[in-house]
Amino acid sequence: MLRFCYICTLCGREYTIEPELMLCPNCKKAQIQGEPLRGLLEVSIKGDLPKNWDSFDLLPVPREFFPKIPVGNTPLWSPERLRKITGYENLYLKDDTGEPTFSYKDRASFLVAAFCKQHGITEVAVASTGNAAASMAGIGAGSGLSVTIFVPCSAPKAKLVQCLQYGARVFPVAGNYDDAFALSLEYTSVTKSLSRNTAYNPLTIEGKKTAAIEIYCQLKKAPDFVFIPTGDGVILAGIYKGFRDLKQFGLIDRIPRIVAVQSDGSPNLFNAIESGNFSNHLPSKTVADSISVDVPSCGYLAVQNLREYDGICITVPDESILEAQLELSSTVGLFCEPAAAAAYAGFLTAKNHFYIDNKASVVLIITGSGLKDIDAASKIIPKLPEPVNCLDDIEL
Ligand SMILES: *Cc1c(COP(=O)(O)O)cnc(C)c1O
Repeated sequence: MLRFCYICTLCGREYTIEPELMLCPNCKKAQIQGEPLRGLLEVSIKGDLPKNWDSFDLLPVPREFFPKIPVGNTPLWSPERLRKITGYENLYLKDDTGEPTFSYKDRASFLVAAFCKQHGITEVAVASTGNAAASMAGIGAGSGLSVTIFVPCSAPKAKLVQCLQYGARVFPVAGNYDDAFALSLEYTSVTKSLSRNTAYNPLTIEGKKTAAIEIYCQLKKAPDFVFIPTGDGVILAGIYKGFRDLKQFGLIDRIPRIVAVQSDGSPNLFNAIESGNFSNHLPSKTVADSISVDVPSCGYLAVQNLREYDGICITVPDESILEAQLELSSTVGLFCEPAAAAAYAGFLTAKNHFYIDNKASVVLIITGSGLKDIDAASKIIPKLPEPVNCLDDIEL
């Protein structure tokens, strides 16, 4: 049997997992406004892995509390044509566009929903710019939770429509994500709701580790490289956690080389790695809204992981992201949102800048569906021709 507790990613103190506990009570005192969260907690696992284990065994909520919603176990594509084009014969796409709400965020919402069931919590609140809100709304709907959402007014329309379709209460906030975040925390402090704010709730990191475990099971080994589109850095921290768990149990002997990919219009993790601090962040502007973040909430942990495991952070311009999106659609048949396409754009950039053997196994995490942002996807597609009446109107 495995036992679970929280451990502070800064000071290493251990805590019992409880609904009220979000950040390390000690380290959060040093929080500076406008910087990444201090005192993020991670789940620590003790004990031995059961013989016929699956990924539920590695999660800190017993499996009977999970809603019967098909989250995770997503396909790993072997994209033949893309392999030919790039010359990488072991290139794979971990495709999370087909999650129940069409993004990777469902992995975190799923664990949060199970935790609520376990603890008798009936309401979840989340501040989000889009996918996390849509995800919690959808997974919450399927689990019978009430979901309250605080979004900046600028959130993309399809993601808002999703939230409302799923029946969540949605409050647009006059201000940016930071304002929505602050208001949502005030809300959770005066109600009986649980916060699903990304990174802040440790289960959001833990839930996002499952793709690493699935990739290991699908490949029967750890890949050499994993490319992850990165905004707040929670997917990055989650995937590192998954591989670290596998290493802890002796299933793999090394952590893959992980490449965090940012848009050069939202390069705040990249800049912090170069400059050593997060204080001079720039306002973000990118077509990839899901990785548009001014202050990455998981920034310190992301830097810590990248340093320890020789990870890499790179940026790609928006034009490359849109070209990568179109190429994935038209040569693979996988239509993803711009943030997700950044993983492929990042791979194309990285393979020219540092050595990646063309036999290396490379996994790109495709994090969200293209249908979530039709405006972005419309930017570089051909115009429709004039309406036709008969074949004479068509050049044969
Ligand atoms: C949230 C999200 C990301 C980035 O995840 P972070 O944890 O913020 O780094 C990438 N792609 C999609 C589609 C997302 O929704």
